[in-house]
Amino acid sequence: MKTNKHKFSSAIREPLQHILQVYNGFSLPSSKIDCGEKCRSQNPNNKPFCCDPQFAVPILYDPEYTQLEPLTKLWLPSTTEKVSEDIPVGLSPHICQGPAACIRGFRSISCRSFPFFPYVRSDYTFLGLAVEWEFSNLCWLSGHLEQVDPKFRSQFVRTYDQLFAYYQTIFDNYHEHSILCRQAHARQGSYIDLLHRNGKRYRINPATEKNTLFRQTATSEQ
Ligand code: SF4
Ligand code: SF4
Repeated sequence: MKTNKHKFSSAIREPLQHILQVYNGFSLPSSKIDCGEKCRSQNPNNKPFCCDPQFAVPILYDPEYTQLEPLTKLWLPSTTEKVSEDIPVGLSPHICQGPAACIRGFRSISCRSFPFFPYVRSDYTFLGLAVEWEFSNLCWLSGHLEQVDPKFRSQFVRTYDQLFAYYQTIFDNYHEHSILCRQAHARQGSYIDLLHRNGKRYRINPATEKNTLFRQTATSEQ
């Protein structure tokens, strides 16, 4: 049987039914630097790439949207069929009012997580944060992982520990997503950067899954 080896670390039961509590525990920005200002200038639409539906469409858990709908007009369901086909059951693409009208307290879990997803090893261990590889060329932060706030990393891990403890399907989806990540990096001949839950940073060989402690060099962190 597939199991999440990490134990539930907080007291929220059925986290997706208490979405504001989940948001409270996952409220910090990913970096103390305003990375949106770093990437906005690279986008012809003058928006951070992760807030521009031409590049990234946020997905919300169905109970997440159900609870947000009466509270805010920030979100509307998206009817983009192409995106709908690609995402797991229980999640739906949405559109927001855009960065100028963003309400931080009502950002989705996917907004809060970006550009990271919870990386799950093939033996079903949730190791830490890895970058959504399809955005690594666009997202400034994914090339500057040293700027990720350790407190954000802790909140990220705690949040997904809660979700995985209650929802096996979510855990399985990220196990699958991590397989796709390894396949993509293997094709590219690149390592997977991992912000480990232990606070360290590693590079993962996508073929062997062997971790190597990352050592910053003058050339690798330009
Ligand atoms: S997370 Fe990446 S894409 Fe989003 S604002 Fe920051 S640098 Fe830009
Ligand atoms: S809700 Fe805010 S953070 Fe999320 S995509 Fe929209 S503008 Fe960006």
